[in-house]
Amino acid sequence: MRHSPENIVVVGGGVAGLATALRLAPLPVTLIVAAPLGAEAATGWAQGGIAAALGDDDRPDYHAIDTLKAGAGLSEPEVARRIVAAAPGAIDWLVQLGTPFDRAPDGALALGLEAAHSRRRIVHAGGDGTGRLVLETLVKAARACPTIAVIEDVRASELLTDEAGTVRGIALRDRAGRVTGLPARAVVLATGGLGGLYASTTNPLGAVGSGLALAARAGAMLRDLEFVQFHPTAIVTAANPAGADLLGGPAPMPLATEALRGEGAKLFNDRGERFMMEVPGQELAPRDVVARAIFAQNAAGRHVVLDARRTDVGRRFPGVAALCRAHGLDPAHQPIPVRPAAHYHMGGINVDDCGRSSVAGLWACGEVASTGLHGANRLASNSLLEALAYAEWIAADIAGSEAGAGIARAPSPAPVGSSARAEIRALMDSHVGVVREASMLDAAVQRLGELNARDGDDLSLVARMVTEAALHRTESRGGHFRTDHPAPAALARHSESALAAARPTHVRQVA
Ligand SMILES: Cc1cc2nc3c(=O)[nH]c(=O)nc-3n(C[C@H](O)[C@H](O)[C@H](O)COP(=O)(O)OP(=O)(O)OC[C@H]3O[C@@H](n4cnc5c(N)ncnc54)[C@H](O)[C@@H]3O)c2cc1C
Repeated sequence: MRHSPENIVVVGGGVAGLATALRLAPLPVTLIVAAPLGAEAATGWAQGGIAAALGDDDRPDYHAIDTLKAGAGLSEPEVARRIVAAAPGAIDWLVQLGTPFDRAPDGALALGLEAAHSRRRIVHAGGDGTGRLVLETLVKAARACPTIAVIEDVRASELLTDEAGTVRGIALRDRAGRVTGLPARAVVLATGGLGGLYASTTNPLGAVGSGLALAARAGAMLRDLEFVQFHPTAIVTAANPAGADLLGGPAPMPLATEALRGEGAKLFNDRGERFMMEVPGQELAPRDVVARAIFAQNAAGRHVVLDARRTDVGRRFPGVAALCRAHGLDPAHQPIPVRPAAHYHMGGINVDDCGRSSVAGLWACGEVASTGLHGANRLASNSLLEALAYAEWIAADIAGSEAGAGIARAPSPAPVGSSARAEIRALMDSHVGVVREASMLDAAVQRLGELNARDGDDLSLVARMVTEAALHRTESRGGHFRTDHPAPAALARHSESALAAARPTHVRQVA
């Protein structure tokens, strides 16, 4: 383990962390990963692909327009334009690293269609194995890079700040509970999302927003935490049954990618009704619209299936077909039972156009960051793209920033793990889910506050901050829907959360 204060620490081994570490080369980087590198990152589970305006009928402008439309007034036009313009370069970079993207017979990249995209622009690999193949490519490149030192199976548990509040290092906690301090001149958080806070989720269960907790405790500003995207078509399995309470189970739910609907798969309820017929855009309406339509069917006691029998599912979507078969379903001959599940967090650490947070020495990349791209609702296949684009900009910013001579103090004991994990996940499903309302949110804030006061852990802190933000947003917009405020407010406004909302004893300063 390096202990140079000139070191750059990147936390997270998904697309965001790996791409940032690679873009920083030849600067020395220590990459911290909570799991073995290549495991337990949402990146590896991405099915649809990466959005890039590469088709003859497409232009970055069209991609930006679709992104802004999905963002429901909260996406920032300049950020969206800059990211979509960077997409072809990001794809090129991945091609150069050896990513085996699927190709058309003429050798050009094959382009898929997904909901709310006005053009075919989803670059994919292995049919629906994009995330796995991108992750494998990046892991291989990082392992081969002499300036990247990887520390696996260790969690970042605290950001170490100096008296001025600048981040000077990071505390690491190993599986045995031992805590050590690692000095750094720059820390990049790339810790992914928070779907694991929900019982019904498509995310790895370790995705509990720990980067948000680290950043908040160091005084960073978080933004738009209430915006959680629920994927409409998570696959109902024995571990996550379609029961009346819809509380979900201990395992992540496998995903039936949106690209299935792009290729013609249709939704039916158990009366055989195509309930999306009346909805503008039908099966290709934005995710939040489709998720609420399925949720309404479930709330009325009806189960929902996705009929993908006409999509050549076995050939075009081998990953989905394998996931289905693992759960005793044959999607080529049977419809797939589906329901919504927490999938993606639009909110995050508020960063500028270089990925800098509001705290000096701290950057954020990927799902943990709020760049302004996704607004209130992410357009499908824009998140891998966002991480790839920002990784390059963050690396350039850090390379050009002054190397501080910080000395980290000894870290404090790591926060205690939550003893109420199952309760928090069930509460988030039932009270802070697809459809929200003041009294439910209020009750959840109270309970999460009690749990956080008792345990002081990341899960209850982040869950509480998300719930408080949802309670304060008295409107419906994008992924956030309130039955008591079903219309959007006249003015689209971001929300900001800081740790003032939590217990001040969590804030620690470097001596
Ligand atoms: C099933 C599924 C399908 C998806 N499909 C697509 C798609 O087709 N296209 C698309 O653009 N997006 C898709 N997404 C979203 C996209 O995959 C994620 O937003 C993206 O991969 C996030 O990348 P990341 O690097 O920010 O986080 P992740 O890939 O989740 O990586 C986070 C990393 O941080 C580590 N970590 C977390 N906390 C700590 C800690 N405290 N200390 C140390 N390490 C820590 C984790 O172990 C992990 O290595 C999908 C998501 C899911 C779940």
